[in-house]
Amino acid sequence: MNIPDIRTVTVIGAGTMGSGIALTALRAGFEVRLYDISQAMLSRASEYIQHHLQRKNQEDRFAALSLIDKLEAFSGSDVVIEAAPEKLDIKKTLFRDISEICPPPALLVSNTSTLPITLLAASAEAPERVGGMHFFNPAPVLPLVEVIRAVQTSETAFQRMLGFARSLGKTPVAVNDTPGFIVNRVARPFYGEALKLLAEGAASHSDIDAIMEGIGFRMGPFRLMDLIGIDINFTAMKSMYEQTFFEPRYRPSLIQQQKIHAGHLGRKTGRGFYNYAETDDVAEPPQDSTETPAFSGKVLLLGEDWAPDLRASLQAAGMNVTGEPADDVAVAIVAASHERDLQKHVIVLDQRLSEWTPLLVQCYDKPLSEIASWMEHPQRLAGLDGLFFATSSRPTLARHAKWNHELEPLVEAFMAALQKQPVWIQETPGLVASRILCMLINEAAFAALEKVANPETIDLAMKLGVNYPKGLFEWGAALGYSRVLAILQHLYDEYGEDRYRPCVYLKQLVRMKND
Ligand code: NAD
Repeated sequence: MNIPDIRTVTVIGAGTMGSGIALTALRAGFEVRLYDISQAMLSRASEYIQHHLQRKNQEDRFAALSLIDKLEAFSGSDVVIEAAPEKLDIKKTLFRDISEICPPPALLVSNTSTLPITLLAASAEAPERVGGMHFFNPAPVLPLVEVIRAVQTSETAFQRMLGFARSLGKTPVAVNDTPGFIVNRVARPFYGEALKLLAEGAASHSDIDAIMEGIGFRMGPFRLMDLIGIDINFTAMKSMYEQTFFEPRYRPSLIQQQKIHAGHLGRKTGRGFYNYAETDDVAEPPQDSTETPAFSGKVLLLGEDWAPDLRASLQAAGMNVTGEPADDVAVAIVAASHERDLQKHVIVLDQRLSEWTPLLVQCYDKPLSEIASWMEHPQRLAGLDGLFFATSSRPTLARHAKWNHELEPLVEAFMAALQKQPVWIQETPGLVASRILCMLINEAAFAALEKVANPETIDLAMKLGVNYPKGLFEWGAALGYSRVLAILQHLYDEYGEDRYRPCVYLKQLVRMKND
């Protein structure tokens, strides 16, 4: 697998990432030198590496590892991978010193998550052979490596970096040097929007997690922030915000800062958004209910623009779906867009159906409070996340401010008959899953527009780097780019904040795909 001119790989830093990268390089057949200023870290890393080689019957590879504690021992390295602490001064000094000891064509790469590779290259002799190789934790397991081209990186050196990543058994993606590269940048709204929804009281942290896990994310944003460390996540957000000259999409959250002030950093301190000392506060995935409350009567459905799969799932559950208001309608749903008679349908149903019939209405292109203003009985109105209603196990329903809680058992019975457990939230523009996802798609569009990488590469990186169930361009196409754009426009109109401005590339995609 090795590329012919690379035999000796030196890894700087024997911590979490450095030890994992060294193990990966040993397994791939390279001679590996591991450097750290701490003997204790070197010993720990050596034990870790030996243990993991033994587990896979690769003990013979251990002889190819040398532990080094002097810079002079770098001499003769073909590749140097820097995984020292995320501190600019440490890394700049290392790149200056190492570039003197390891002349070209030795490749010098950094595993930094947030620092500009171009700035590190500027401290090095012969900066054209400097780049980034951003591994994901745990490095021996996760397949993705973002290979980052600094402004100075030569094409020859960049191709060798890509080849070297492949020879480690990894899937490299080519990225231009920009803050957060692909994965850490495109994932920002997953946390940022979730925090904004929490700050505005739209839903609790555990409800937001349940909604996002319900649409296929392995962990909701708050559970994930607790795992990563709220301090680490906050630092990444702050770094993105500062490096982009205060782009509002990356504005850090006061909630995170307060958690840090309080020392609630997540799992590592026993408390973050969840309290890990009290097991009952750690949200578990919803249990399947064995009791299904009875639901009978017809379901009235008008318009399907904003709930394209809903009719099929109602029918699959054996429900009697009608388009006519009548006495035996138990639940009414309006998923028409504003352009296609949303208002007319709501007014007619509000007049013709008993005030005890709940009305579930899409609110992607009109605020729930405006829809309520058309009605005589707004206490029967709830917002419906129609885009995920059919596919999610935890679809969202938004209570209007005047919502009559006595209607809730009937809606719950309707949902249970569809094998779903709804998550009730307060009125908020774009709801939860649709808002977070549309902001992720918008961020991916900005990354493509700004030539960080092409859309296919961005999709691959998000699936391999952070296990997203679908790439964001794939998801945008599946939802319909025009719907994504309409939700972003609605958010932009409601908030009047630049944070929600739809990306011009997204607008181009709508026109290109004509959807
Ligand atoms: P870590 O704290 O686990 O390890 C850093 C190691 O560097 C320690 O062993 C420390 O003794 C050593 N060190 C300190 N000063 C040094 C110096 N001057 N020269 C050589 N070694 C020195 O850190 P980590 O989590 O492994 O992160 C390392 C780098 O990888 C950072 O740039 C980080 O942003 C990046 N990264 C981390 C992750 C992650 O999930 N931890 C993921 C991707 C990238």
